[in-house]
Parts: sequence; C-alpha cells; structure tokens
Amino acid sequence: MTALLLGALGLTLSLVIPGPLAAARWPERAPAAAVALWQALTLAAVLSALGVVLAAPEELVRAFGSGRPASAVALVGALAVAAVIVLRLLGSLAGVMYRSRARRARHRLLVDLLDRAEQHGDLDVRGLRVLDGELPFAYCVPGRSPRVVLSGGALKLLGAPEVAAVLAHEQAHLRHRHDLVLESFTAFYRAVPRPLRSRAPLDAVHMLLEMAADDAARRRCGAVPVRAALARLSEAPPAPADAAGQPGMPAVEGRRRWDRLAAPLPTPLPLTALVLVAAGGLLVLPTVILVLPWLGQALAAWPL
Ligand SMILES: [Zn+2]
Repeated sequence: MTALLLGALGLTLSLVIPGPLAAARWPERAPAAAVALWQALTLAAVLSALGVVLAAPEELVRAFGSGRPASAVALVGALAVAAVIVLRLLGSLAGVMYRSRARRARHRLLVDLLDRAEQHGDLDVRGLRVLDGELPFAYCVPGRSPRVVLSGGALKLLGAPEVAAVLAHEQAHLRHRHDLVLESFTAFYRAVPRPLRSRAPLDAVHMLLEMAADDAARRRCGAVPVRAALARLSEAPPAPADAAGQPGMPAVEGRRRWDRLAAPLPTPLPLTALVLVAAGGLLVLPTVILVLPWLGQALAAWPL
C-alpha cells in the first residue's frame, strides 16, 4: 500500500501539479520562495520514486510470505534500482555543470578579448565587459570570475538610470547564484525519462529567477528604470542563448515581467512564510505519514 501511495504521490507531484503551479500568478509575489517550493516539489517527486522502488518489492514479498531468500533478493534488487536512479541524477548534474563551466570559460575569454569597457569609464562595475555592436543586449556570465556583458547598442538605447537597473538585475543573478539553481533543474529535466518529463518546472523557475532579479534591481534603483529597461530590451532581439546558462528573453516573458513591475513591490513576508512552510511540508509529510510507518513494518518483518 505504501508503494502505491508513494507512486500516486510521485506522479501527482511530477505530472499533475507542475502545469497549474506554473500557470498560477501568486508565486510571482514571492518569487524566491516559489523557487524553493519548486525545489521541494522536485525533490519530493524524486524521493517518492525512490520510495516506490524500495517499498514495492518488500511489500510484495511480505504480502506473499515468500521467506528469507526472496526477501534478500527483493532487497538487493530494490537497492540496485534505487542506486541507478540516484546515479543517473548525479551523472546528469555532473554533465550539465561540466558543460556549463566549459562553455562559460570560453565565453569569458571571448568577451574579455572583445571588451571595449575602457571607452565607457563612467561605468565602474567589477567584471563589466562592453561589446561593440548595435544590437541591444545585456547578460551575465556566472562563475567564480563572473562577467556582466552589455552591448554598445544597449548603452546607446538606455539612459543612465536604466543601465544601472540592468546592471543591478544582472548582479542579482550573479550574487544569488541563480545559475546553480537553473543547472539543477536542467539536470533533473534531462535525467527524467521522456514520458515522465515536463518542462514546466524548468521554465517556471527560469521566469521566477528573472522576477527575483527584477525585484533586487527595483529595490536598488526603483521600479521605473527597471520597467523602462525591460520594455526597451524586450523590443530588441533576445540575448545570445545560453550565455548565462539561460535562454534569451521571449517577448511573452518580457511582457509578464513588465506587467508585474507596475504593481508595488509586494510585502513578501506572509506569502513567503506560507510558501516556505508548504515547501517544508512537501518534504517532511510524505516521510512521516508514509515512509516511517512502512519502515517500521518492514524492519519488524525482516527475517534477521
Ligand atoms: Zn535576468
């Protein structure tokens, strides 16, 4: 019964909840906490899958009373499958992190070579690189030696307060290591078998991280320049894909972020607390309600 309930929970968490949660507007009022909720949801889905793998053989053996050799075989088989799941996830994470770092190292080298920042001495920002060209864009290259990249076109298009807002936005991405959060979701997405896979968590978390960076920028510079910069850059073609491990900004995303910035900065405490409690509950409750009672029964029945 535990395996069935954990299976139903895992399928609900990975296939039923992501769509409505990604479409909901309330997470935009507490974007950082909502990212934590997505992390808890994803981790709880993984733990449910591991729970099914471990509980199902044990419950079957116990139900049919097949004795000690069958129990041992079931246990070894269950542990082997659980190990494969964990190794697949870790392998995917290692692959995504390795490829991102290699790509960023090349990207850093390139923007360092093409840098024209000395022609814009008034912009005193650590790691700033300015690239020639009319195309207006701004992005960051995260890592231990991060860069914030602006194009000459962006500097021409944006006024000084808007440039400050864009820089504050990119620095928020770097300061809070949003790249690591996105990498973990990308790794999870790639590790999940195709029929069970959903892009909703990855896309939703990407949008929420952008909103969290927008909020950091408007706390520092005010909403007006952030909105203006967003509107101007949204009209321009998107930034180079994967420059910061993120895709360029589609117009729909820009519009949603722009609309949201029209409202005052949300007072996040009640909603943030509620969302964080929900995230904690997602991780703790299945363990307490389902896994611990099963573990008690399984250990009591184990013929040692
Ligand atoms: Zn951004």
